[in-house]
Amino acid sequence: MQDQDTIIALATPSGAGAIAVIRVSGPKAIELSNTLFKSIHNKHLPNQPTHSIHLGHIIDGDRILDEVLLSLFKNPKSYTGEDVVEISCHGSHYIQAEILQLYIRHGCRAAQPGEFTMRAFVNGKMDLSQAEAVADVINSDSAAAHQIAMQQMRGGFSSEIKALRTELLNFASLIELELDFSEEDVAFADQDQFKALLERIVKVLKYLMDSFSTGNAIKNGVPISIVGAPNVGKSTLLNALLKEDKAIVSTIAGTTRDAIEDELIVEGIKFRFIDTAGIRQTDDSIESIGIEKTYNKMAQSQVILYLLDVSTISKTNIELFLEEVQATKKKYPDAQCLVVLNKTDILHSNEVLTFLSKLKPLSISAKTGAGIETLKSHILSLVQTGKLRNNDTIITNARHYDAIGNALQSIQAVRAGLESNISGDLLAIDIRQALYHFGLITGEISTDDLLGNIFTNFCIGK
Ligand code: GDP
Repeated sequence: MQDQDTIIALATPSGAGAIAVIRVSGPKAIELSNTLFKSIHNKHLPNQPTHSIHLGHIIDGDRILDEVLLSLFKNPKSYTGEDVVEISCHGSHYIQAEILQLYIRHGCRAAQPGEFTMRAFVNGKMDLSQAEAVADVINSDSAAAHQIAMQQMRGGFSSEIKALRTELLNFASLIELELDFSEEDVAFADQDQFKALLERIVKVLKYLMDSFSTGNAIKNGVPISIVGAPNVGKSTLLNALLKEDKAIVSTIAGTTRDAIEDELIVEGIKFRFIDTAGIRQTDDSIESIGIEKTYNKMAQSQVILYLLDVSTISKTNIELFLEEVQATKKKYPDAQCLVVLNKTDILHSNEVLTFLSKLKPLSISAKTGAGIETLKSHILSLVQTGKLRNNDTIITNARHYDAIGNALQSIQAVRAGLESNISGDLLAIDIRQALYHFGLITGEISTDDLLGNIFTNFCIGK
């Protein structure tokens, strides 16, 4: 699986900057650098200790390309587990390109996306789920997403999976041993212990599967729909929340035809606010499409903010509104539905407000900003992030979710098999199947296709 190429890539973002870092990894990294880099103290790089830094020049024939700092990491004590050289050069686009080309002319190959991390995985520096977390750490843009990614990168979740897999593997060996001695009818595996282990595994796997919706929401943003009739002030509310004018605010009913999404980070949690087309009966075909989208967005939301314009609501249309809210709650039982009374800055009937109080609404004025902070903290309290704060393991990766689901199915099959006293060889097949799915998560079992899929999503230089 591992090739012997020495690979090179820019590790910092392309473009000009104060400094840029170029990373070289592979068997020729040090030897090659020894010819292309002249230390100011004439140091011979192969003789230098690992984790040392050297000042000098990158030389192309007689030409000095740049004055650089060269960091030396000798295998296996490096990110990839190979010999690694990191060149900190001046951040000019020209210098970066010249150094890269110089190394490539001398036998390096330009690295593929994620190839450094893939080598780290192949050389046993990290398991597969840890390698995947590296990309999540790089992409994390909120405190919560960062915390989960860091925890995964440091092996929190995979060490739990690995420990369970090892225990299961031990039982699998005992059961297979029994098969070898089947004529003699001996039992090596303690049935009670085995059942207890299976129970423990089921508990952990179910917990992890449940954590996925929280994890996924934290990584990609907790989806919140803002819905309500046209002109109740949805776009204005979104703008008030975002404190910028992204959504078009207009007084013409039905202008927000498409869903507009924006992200807002509140106390380290990312939210995706979706301003949806108003729900109302319409003959306009374009607007109908917008309404269809509203329903789809609402189905994905964790929180639905149901907005009402208190300045226009009257005794006659209030019943209709109440029915709509009840219908919404019924249609989207998984979402938290929050009724928000808007335009409280304009004259409105207190009688109506009293009538609405049974919905436990929040009162705001999107225009003046009154009540917006209370609304934000209320939304925060609705989102289940308690688990995260307790440092528990949370999964965010759809690939892990699938593998865990499949492992759970196999474990349930093993349990059912034990209950119905199926033969040892059939039991062994189900156990092997579960072990296989566990192995896929941490990478004890991997294929070129799987690795290809995972690492192509990385940036080059990582
Ligand atoms: P949407 O169709 O639900 O997105 O409604 P808009 O956000 O476009 O708002 C419709 C109109 O109501 C605009 O003229 C807004 O300025 C106005 N509006 C929105 N919120 C308030 C509010 O809290 N108070 C007052 N007085 N007007 C508001």
